Amino acid sequence: MAAQRTARRTHNFTESVIREMTRVAREYDAINLAQGFPDFPAPELLKEAACDAIRADRNQYAITWGSPRLRTALVTKYREWYGMEVEGDQEITVTCGATEAMAAIMLAVIDPGDEVIILQPFYENYGPDAILCGASPVFMPLVPPEYRLDTDRLASLVTNRTRAIVVNTPNNPTGRVLDRSELEAIAALCIEHDLLAITDEIYEHIYYEGEHIPIATLDGMRDRTITVSGLSKTFGITGWRIGTIIAPPDLTGAIRKVHDFLTVGAPAPLQDACAAGLESLGPEYYSGMVEEYRARREVLYSALVDAGFRCEKPQGAYYILADFSGLSDEPDDVFSRQMARDPGVLPVPGSSFFSPPELGRSLVRFAFCKRMETLEKAAERLRDFSDRRG
Ligand code: GLN
Repeated sequence: MAAQRTARRTHNFTESVIREMTRVAREYDAINLAQGFPDFPAPELLKEAACDAIRADRNQYAITWGSPRLRTALVTKYREWYGMEVEGDQEITVTCGATEAMAAIMLAVIDPGDEVIILQPFYENYGPDAILCGASPVFMPLVPPEYRLDTDRLASLVTNRTRAIVVNTPNNPTGRVLDRSELEAIAALCIEHDLLAITDEIYEHIYYEGEHIPIATLDGMRDRTITVSGLSKTFGITGWRIGTIIAPPDLTGAIRKVHDFLTVGAPAPLQDACAAGLESLGPEYYSGMVEEYRARREVLYSALVDAGFRCEKPQGAYYILADFSGLSDEPDDVFSRQMARDPGVLPVPGSSFFSPPELGRSLVRFAFCKRMETLEKAAERLRDFSDRRG
């Protein structure tokens, strides 16, 4: 038999289903409510700042771990929003999106043989990131419809090989915003067992209920938390690839080395533009953004319920995870492709947020980070679809 031409580390995970679905949407000319990216314009101020930076010939590498201006803006952001003091020279790394951030972090702090606890349903990158490190992802289920954290169950998963817990709030795909008591329970476990919290807070400014609490701000957690965020969701610029990491200096040293050899750095002119956005967009930008998302959430939610899906309104982020078992007995991937053809509205198959994937077979995820007219058109197609099915 011919020798394997690919490395074993690539054999235990699949390509991203979310990104595959964007290709399927194009194939069927369906409305893409699969991959979570906005179809509306970015703030004018950001676009102008990016053009200005390019015209000013900011064309060369920024400092590997992020331009000083962007890191200064991030220091101000963490202080003003969360009362969190961050040392810009030693604790911040700017990456090519939160996706690179997560991968660089895991490669920097996780050893082969370690276990990484991941709350499930999960955003699909975390498992492959752990596997790339030679570690084992251990999945901790959150149970619908509330998706609340069962602290005892979480504690029962900790072994002497556990190195970190991955937290994602506001959550993709459930929309859960973890409350203080849940975060305190995770913090207590991290402290008791000397674990790291790796927290993906990319939706930190998009929530409709509760409050966003960075787990790093809880007592005893600052030194054992690695906080991931970025500007993709906050400014609606997912293609710019600007992610951010806040971590204690010793961890930052390791993360920066990995980041440097992976990508050298994030796009220099776009870092400038993101700094301008952080410096100049005031509270009305953030509250306006949330109100727009709240209105979009209503349109998609009622269309899904009217069409026969079972779902809850998310507390945060911009996705609805919906049960379609009242509509079809097909598995989620078959059902999603059928939806691409008719009614021409494409979600992400739910199985991509679960391990084993069977747990998500009757679920699909719809994104509502779209113009109102896109969502209304999708709503019309969904209602018409359910009428035709009688
Ligand atoms: N976070 C978005 C989603 O869940 C987009 C992910 C991506 O493709 N990088 O759809």
